[in-house]
Amino acid sequence: MALGIGLAAIDLAKRYAKERMQFEEPIAAKQAIQFMIADNCTRLEAARLLLLRAAFTKDRKRHYAGEASMAKLYATEAANRACYDAMQILGGYGYTRDFPVERYYRDVRVTSIYEGTSEIQRIIIARELLKQ
Ligand SMILES: Cc1cc2nc3c(=O)[nH]c(=O)nc-3n(C[C@H](O)[C@H](O)[C@H](O)COP(=O)(O)OP(=O)(O)OC[C@H]3O[C@@H](n4cnc5c(N)ncnc54)[C@H](O)[C@@H]3O)c2cc1C
Repeated sequence: MALGIGLAAIDLAKRYAKERMQFEEPIAAKQAIQFMIADNCTRLEAARLLLLRAAFTKDRKRHYAGEASMAKLYATEAANRACYDAMQILGGYGYTRDFPVERYYRDVRVTSIYEGTSEIQRIIIARELLKQ
C-alpha cells in the first residue's frame, strides 16, 4: 500500500514538473526538482526490492520476520518522503484539493503507524540481527 501511494505521488509530480513553467522553462529542467525525483524513485525501487525479498523468503517457508520488518519500515518511510516531496514539487497546488497529492500525503502518514510502528519494526529488525 505504501509503495503504491509513493509511486502514485511521484508519477504525478513527474508529469506536473514537465508541464509547470517557471522562469521560461518547465520546473523539471531544474536540478533541485530532478534530484527530488531521482532520490525518491531510487528509494521506492529499493523498497520494492525489499518487499520482493520478504515475499520470496516467506514463499520459501523460511523465517522472514526480519525481512518483513525491513520492508515495512523502509517502504513506509520512503513513501512518506515521496509524498512530502511530491507536494513540494507541486508547490501550492499540491496543498489544494485540485490535485490528489494532498490525499496521498494524508493516506500515507498512517502506514508508518499501523501494522506496527516504525519504532517497533526497528526493535524487531535489531532483535533478528542480534540473535544471528
Ligand atoms: C487507521 C488505523 C487502522 C487500524 N487498524 C487496525 C486493525 O485493523 N487492527 C488492529 O489490531 N489495529 C489497528 N490499528 C491500530 C494500530 O495497529 C496501532 O495504532 C499501532 O500498532 C500503534 O499502537 P498505538 O496506537 O497503541 O501506539 P502506542 O503503542 O501507544 O505508541 C505510541 C508511540 O510510542 C512508540 N512506542 C511504543 N512502544 C515502544 C517501544 N517499546 N519502543 C519504542 N517506541 C515505542 C510508538 O512507536 C509510537 O511512536 C489501526 C490504527 C489506525 C490509525
